Amino acid sequence: MMSKGPITNALTIDFEDWYQGIEIPISQWGDYEDRIERSGDTVLRLLDEANVKATFFILGYVAEKFPDLVKRIEREGHEIGTHGFSHTLIYKQSPELFKTELTRAVRFLEDLTGAKVLGHRAPYFSITKDSLWALDILGELGVRYDSSIFPVLNYRYGIADAPRFPYTIEREHFKFTEFPISTLKLPGFTMPISGGAYFRIYPYQVTKQAIKAVNRGGNPATFYLHPWELDPDHPRIDVPRRIALTHYFNLGATERRLKKLLRDFRLAPMKDVLGIT
Ligand SMILES: [Zn+2]
Repeated sequence: MMSKGPITNALTIDFEDWYQGIEIPISQWGDYEDRIERSGDTVLRLLDEANVKATFFILGYVAEKFPDLVKRIEREGHEIGTHGFSHTLIYKQSPELFKTELTRAVRFLEDLTGAKVLGHRAPYFSITKDSLWALDILGELGVRYDSSIFPVLNYRYGIADAPRFPYTIEREHFKFTEFPISTLKLPGFTMPISGGAYFRIYPYQVTKQAIKAVNRGGNPATFYLHPWELDPDHPRIDVPRRIALTHYFNLGATERRLKKLLRDFRLAPMKDVLGIT
């Protein structure tokens, strides 16, 4: 049997329902079918079968609607992080609203589980040059690490020249760790390699070799997935083409590929990879 590499990579689940990851405003969420109990069960079952623990960045809205699901995630030994409350692009929010929503989301999770929330991931990786103020609010609220900055640039997110591996963000009154979303540096091009739609678009071998290349450089990678990516039959609705292309692409391949990933790599919650307690 091939041995897994010596480096432990971070496995993260952005825990939201299918209609929340598709740029529908929270005011309309009541119109759509909740499927997170089913897709959440699939994620938890696959992780349990592989005996792997992950970080679940849980959307506040989901936590308030399905608290028993959050308790189950915690009971099964996974790390509970926050994915904010309303899945709004941070650079479209005011700092005040971001802070209010994040406070609500973190408090709810902490009251529910009794454990401190250490980590944050922004919806759509939306900490960009237009929303760097969010880092100060994360620090103020006592977050110990963030994993939101994508060192690429596309229509929705990214800071092209941001560091590619974990680093410390330090201000006068706080410091925390940023774990950037993983990329592979190719000549003249930085390739996103880290999960989600990229995991469904590239053949599995591409993802596998890219993570191995990052690990060969001595660095951990982070991998992310959404429960709705393991629910290929979720409703098709009419959304802009640029969103539909990535959201619905090749969903049927996710489960098979995830099983391989869980077998091929050493994976752990992000706090453990960063050594944060
Ligand atoms: Zn999300």
